[in-house]
Amino acid sequence: MRDLDDQLPGAVDELKELYPHTGRAFVLGITGNPGSGKSTLVDCLIRSYRDAGRRVGVVAIDPSSPFTGGAILGDRIRMQRHATDDGVFIRSLATRGHLGGLSRSTQDIIAVMDAMGHDVIIVETVGVGQDEVDVVSTAHTSVVVVVPGLGDEIQAIKAGILEIADILVVNKADREGADRTVADLSMMLDLRGAAAKRVRILKAVAVKEQGIGELVEAVSEHRAELDHETEGRRRALERAETRLKDLLRSLALDRALARVEAGEGLAALVQRIAERKIDPYSAAEKILAELMGEA
Ligand code: GDP
Repeated sequence: MRDLDDQLPGAVDELKELYPHTGRAFVLGITGNPGSGKSTLVDCLIRSYRDAGRRVGVVAIDPSSPFTGGAILGDRIRMQRHATDDGVFIRSLATRGHLGGLSRSTQDIIAVMDAMGHDVIIVETVGVGQDEVDVVSTAHTSVVVVVPGLGDEIQAIKAGILEIADILVVNKADREGADRTVADLSMMLDLRGAAAKRVRILKAVAVKEQGIGELVEAVSEHRAELDHETEGRRRALERAETRLKDLLRSLALDRALARVEAGEGLAALVQRIAERKIDPYSAAEKILAELMGEA
């Protein structure tokens, strides 16, 4: 968490100590458009995993957009029912204030939950921004939730979310057009050719808890495949690489900004750039050069 090292000086040391005790939890990413039923599904999943005796962590990433404020409040209220269950740990994270560091913050929380002994950690994000999609793509298994209907929804999926999906859930299957959406999605998946990874497509009616057993089953099937395949190893390396790059990016930015503040100050430098007295490339290069000299 960004605030972990900014506000709690000991937190990074703790994260370093935690690291050897992490890597045991199974991380399940869930993404989809606002209103597609993600939090209703997560709520069902929590219950299902709790019934099976698993300890569950949830990282709910709140988009900072004011337009979705109502939906977020709804999520929180719905999940409240698990608040008294000490086998469930829910943490919300706002995207605002995590400039490029959302992934780092999320990974830190996952590490803490993992070390606390949670068996399953669900990361829920709105699949709108690249950051959110990145976060979910580092999960062991990624679930993309869509609702029946054609047009924009399918186009949005085409735009990239499809690549990260291991499981596609057509939620709100009580509405018209669910089978059609399943068929459309299958066709899109087929177009990727025979070498593409297998993606399961399921229907669900989260409000009625229908399709949850099938989803849990599909998740564990995918998980078993990961355990047995080189894909599992590949993803672990990819996660480690993402983690390292994220940390480098955010640590370098923090240090560079601290360096600027110690000098002429960010506001003054920004002013000079805006006035075309210095170009942003030279300004950035100069700060980096000073940082490197420091090391
Ligand atoms: P999120 O924004 O993706 O987290 O979506 P929510 O879980 O908050 O659900 C949005 C709305 O859709 C809520 O009013 C839910 O009650 C409703 N909803 C969720 N699942 C279903 C479903 O399977 N069928 C129908 N008809 N409504 C659903």
